[in-house]
Amino acid sequence: MATSSDCLFCTIVAGDIPNDTVYETDTVLAFRDITPRANSHVLVIPKSHEDTLGQMADDDPTSVAELFTAAREVARREGIEDSGYRVVSNVGADAGQEVFHVHVHVLGAQKLGPVGP
Ligand code: 5GP
Ligand code: ZN
Repeated sequence: MATSSDCLFCTIVAGDIPNDTVYETDTVLAFRDITPRANSHVLVIPKSHEDTLGQMADDDPTSVAELFTAAREVARREGIEDSGYRVVSNVGADAGQEVFHVHVHVLGAQKLGPVGP
């Protein structure tokens, strides 16, 4: 599995930084965002390091599908599958990506505003 020694999320996958795990498989980890921007805010990441979703789509498209399948399972476990939720990924600088280890945000448990800048 690819890891990056200076990557925050690889450190979380390694268990060296505690996290509030919501769901886990052999290849995916889902844990609560440390600064929640919604009543439910969970990050879903591949355990193997990739910088961005775009990069991952080129390198390993199956893993992209696994992320979205896991996002749905997170929504189910958070009890928001029926009420609705948002899955979003910031890709690159203009989107405000802070952590360059692929992740999707799963947001919900409240009425969300429109997607926008
Ligand atoms: P980005 O802006 O890259 O799309 O999102 C990175 C997310 O990681 C942010 O929402 C931020 O709050 C979250 N985050 C940063 N550091 C930590 C951490 O140490 N633990 C957890 N659980 N989330 C973090
Ligand atoms: Zn990483």
